[in-house]
Amino acid sequence: MTSQEFEHYRHEAVHALTDLNEQAENGFRLAEWPRWSYDLEAASLVFVRDNVPRVIAAIQVAGSTDAEGKTWRWGWADAAVPHKAAERMDEVRAFGEREAIPELAGGTVPADENTGWEMTAIAARILEGRGAFRCARPGGGLYYFVYTAMAFAPEAASATVECPAHGRGFPTYLCEHLVADAAQPWYSDEPAPANPWPDAWCRLCDAIYLEEGEWNERNGPRLRVKVLCHRCYEAKRKLAVPI
Ligand SMILES: [Zn+2]
Ligand SMILES: [Zn+2]
Repeated sequence: MTSQEFEHYRHEAVHALTDLNEQAENGFRLAEWPRWSYDLEAASLVFVRDNVPRVIAAIQVAGSTDAEGKTWRWGWADAAVPHKAAERMDEVRAFGEREAIPELAGGTVPADENTGWEMTAIAARILEGRGAFRCARPGGGLYYFVYTAMAFAPEAASATVECPAHGRGFPTYLCEHLVADAAQPWYSDEPAPANPWPDAWCRLCDAIYLEEGEWNERNGPRLRVKVLCHRCYEAKRKLAVPI
């Protein structure tokens, strides 16, 4: 790609991102959720009202600008960004290398006030994102996130449990064996924006599950389930052993 072609590509990407953000704002009524919080370890951004998650986005950190706004640093080149929050950014770098675009292939780019959105728009285009979000970066500068998936929070997220360790949280369901010892294989759906804390059970309980291929009135009563707050769930899930 010549530098002129890249300029054109970038220009188109910025327009496409403007459209995507409009769609995300309308489709997920983002103006109605006054608060948000991100969790880079989980690579997620949650829009909140009344302490209840309303919309959950899976994110990639496209990158950030520094406090002076003079440098753009790609997510893959930022030691403060956990692997999960930038794992797909390699696709952007690979595109930059393939097309010989130095701005996309290096770790940092000299920035002006448009660079952050421009680079983010390119990342959104390559990752086929749903939109993008900008917020303050701890320590100065701005983070730019690309939404790679977005969903309304599950109904379950409107219910709450009181956790002795974490206060008010969202109910999650684990078999008693995982609660007692989380460092074993977890059987569950993959966590996803629409279902960030899928019900999970252990290998023993999975044998019971497989007898019916589902949980129903015959095998369901044999599963002993405990309710945990979502923070307890996330802490335990980190201990899970791959199947
Ligand atoms: Zn179990
Ligand atoms: Zn808890």
